[in-house]
Amino acid sequence: MEILLKEAKSILTPQRNGFLAARPYPFTHSLSGYVGCGFGQTTCGLYCYAQFLPNWHFRGFTAEWGHAVQVKTNAAQLLAKALSTMKPQVRHKLRIFMSSTTDPYQPVEREYQITRQCLEVFADYDDLDLLVVQTRSPLAARDLSLLGKIPYACLSVTIETDDQIYLKRLKGGPPLEKRWELIRESRACGISTQITVSPCLRYSGIENFGQRLLRSGANRLIVDSVTDGDGSGGERTARSPFAQVEPDWEDSDHAHRLYRYLEEYAGGTDIALGWSIAGFCGITPRYLAQ
Ligand code: SF4
Repeated sequence: MEILLKEAKSILTPQRNGFLAARPYPFTHSLSGYVGCGFGQTTCGLYCYAQFLPNWHFRGFTAEWGHAVQVKTNAAQLLAKALSTMKPQVRHKLRIFMSSTTDPYQPVEREYQITRQCLEVFADYDDLDLLVVQTRSPLAARDLSLLGKIPYACLSVTIETDDQIYLKRLKGGPPLEKRWELIRESRACGISTQITVSPCLRYSGIENFGQRLLRSGANRLIVDSVTDGDGSGGERTARSPFAQVEPDWEDSDHAHRLYRYLEEYAGGTDIALGWSIAGFCGITPRYLAQ
């Protein structure tokens, strides 16, 4: 793994277009403590759209996606400065997605703790609207007590299939059982918790996967497909290694079937459901939820 330590110039990236800026409740900013992602060497690296984005290609890495990471060593200091110099009425409106182009709990976080340092900054403020921490890594369990101190935090965990054998046959990834455990622990700590089946890969059976999602304890469930969620109507996925290893990659019937199943059985529960981009951007602002 090629690791580059670098001071960033800014840390909150405004979202004016793209999937995070979608209705009904767009995010105002994204926050990435890293450029590149160590999970790029696993299954999700096959279809990850971040490998096609300019912020990866302009950094001058020679390594392939998943084999290099830039660490933004001053991320927490930049965040502390941004939040402390912001007027409260502006801060109240912040809806931050951490992170859209990297996993905040990828393996290098164990050593560099950039995400943890940022959470320590957020924990000093109780007045933002939303912080979504998006990960597929059981390492997030390390910071649950910290996340529990941030009243607007939502832990969002990717579980793209319930089929460990299928996941392993592709390129593996953080073990699914550990991700389910992370969700249980997160809810036990009282943290708002979301599961993103994004993108929905082949699963073992609709009853098995659907019921497991519904009984996971998560407050929100998002289902997505590669064609709806890659930000280009499937064009990026067509160019990705995933299209080579999975000939049926364009078929999203199984994702729609799972979503319909969840709609049918989530009725009468408190679980919020969302499809693709509108689901990601569907978390109600605090002032409306109260
Ligand atoms: S964890 Fe997310 S950012 Fe990292 S390679 Fe996988 S899909 Fe891409």
